[in-house]
Amino acid sequence: MGMFRTVWMDLACASCGMARRIGVQFKTGCDALQDYELGQRVVEDFDEVEHVGLRTHDRYRGIAERYCRACRARWAGDAVRADGAVLLEAIEAGRLTIRKHGVAVTAERVRETIEREAEQAYRTGSPQRLYELHPSGRHTEFLWGGRPVVFPSDAWQAFWDYAGEQLNQRLKRAGWSAGGDQFRDDLTVYLDEESRVRVDVGGDAGRAGSYAS
Ligand SMILES: [Zn+2]
Repeated sequence: MGMFRTVWMDLACASCGMARRIGVQFKTGCDALQDYELGQRVVEDFDEVEHVGLRTHDRYRGIAERYCRACRARWAGDAVRADGAVLLEAIEAGRLTIRKHGVAVTAERVRETIEREAEQAYRTGSPQRLYELHPSGRHTEFLWGGRPVVFPSDAWQAFWDYAGEQLNQRLKRAGWSAGGDQFRDDLTVYLDEESRVRVDVGGDAGRAGSYAS
């Protein structure tokens, strides 16, 4: 992701609404992990030649963890379960075959792995996907429509497009309105007339420092 700057502030969890201290990360094109407190007075460092850096009246897109610690753990566990359900459904529909060490993985084995990984995710809040059962896993081979899911290939693209969309839909049905997205990017960082760091919550950011690249 490269270098960025961070504004520390209190922000409500997008799920339970509890305010907690969080770092909002943003980029100006020339960053060195600067840390600011919300409202802190900051000296502009805009480079007129390179057209990078921080200056008053420019707006920068910020991203931050969407959920508090407790909600993130619930989300992570639900995400693993949803991810596993997508795989199972595809296996049962005959679209996906998973092989480990050359042997097809049974649905029973997939269910066991899902439960084990979900339990860990609920505990740690780490949104690990079922690494053991994903194409990046050790000795794991995926066949999507009979074609190996290896990067780069059409099968790789088709599988991840499908899996990502299905995961989003399942999480949304489970009440996670942002689906598989762990971060919010509706934050806008800027310096006000007194050169104090401000963050607007909600809406869309302007030009420099966008994460949307
Ligand atoms: Zn929360």
